[in-house]
Amino acid sequence: MSTGTAGQQASMEPDLSERWMFFDGEFVRECDVRIPIQTHALHNGTGVIEGIRAYWNAGRQQLYLLEVLAHYQRFHRSARIVRMAVPESAERLVAITQELLRRNDCREDTYIRPIFFKSAPLMSMNLRAMTGRLAVHTYPLGPFHDSGVGAMVSSWRRIPDAVIPARAKTTASYLNSALAKTEAVANGFDEAIMLTHDGHVCESSTCNLFLRKDGEFLTPSVTDDILEGITRRQLIGMLRDDVGQSLVERSVDRTELYAADEMFICGTGYGLVPVLSVDHTPVGDGDVGPHTRRLMELYQRAVRGEEERYGHWLLPVHP
Ligand code: PMP
Repeated sequence: MSTGTAGQQASMEPDLSERWMFFDGEFVRECDVRIPIQTHALHNGTGVIEGIRAYWNAGRQQLYLLEVLAHYQRFHRSARIVRMAVPESAERLVAITQELLRRNDCREDTYIRPIFFKSAPLMSMNLRAMTGRLAVHTYPLGPFHDSGVGAMVSSWRRIPDAVIPARAKTTASYLNSALAKTEAVANGFDEAIMLTHDGHVCESSTCNLFLRKDGEFLTPSVTDDILEGITRRQLIGMLRDDVGQSLVERSVDRTELYAADEMFICGTGYGLVPVLSVDHTPVGDGDVGPHTRRLMELYQRAVRGEEERYGHWLLPVHP
């Protein structure tokens, strides 16, 4: 069952505080920002987002941005896929984020949410014809300590590439995630695993999925309507290069979920979360698998700068 703190914090009403955010090209106080109700994105889901984390290392009194350039590169790619153009370069957004975290004197684990959204108060559906607005805001978000989740295979299918591209992190695609998660919780599960339109395993509501079977790790391939997760990419590298495990990216059948020995879901917000059962069928012996536990520990050390070989993932914020 979920014992995490991140989920609880995320569900709280936003604290419209004196905190700084970046909006329309300048640093402003959160409480001073007003968005017209006519905003196109509010009605039509015409926005792209990112979800970035910064981890605090108390011993070093340093805050580390995790894979921040990769996140802003994906932000640009998401926008390009849906015919939008983010006004600042990925490199400049990294510098803006560093400055924002310094201004807010962030000295704890923090979540960073960039959004570029269509703001024109128009009924138009031509994305190229509309103006957009860019914002980056931050809030404290502790690590998601989770002893493991029970998942169900959702009756909602993942949005296919030809409908709304899942590889782009659009605001619209999160209705799909929300429907799946809501159904899972209503049925007494913690998490939903979505299948592609043709019935292959895709991902959970907001995380990529890995399973271990027959002595190797499997994860759905990028052509199976997943968001191409940055944590997924990090873990593939970790498994192949450092942990010496075989990892295969391929289409995964639903029944392989029931045959797995270990399973976890992963994402920037959640880190690694073990999946202990699927549709009430225990994964392996129903406990956190040894390989999963080892990866979780290694990842947690790496994101706080305690593993030198992953130092290239991190960008220090404070001078
Ligand atoms: N899939 C979905 C649908 C997500 O929302 C996320 C979180 N961004 C992920 C996967 C994991 O992506 P990342 O590791 O880049 O955070």
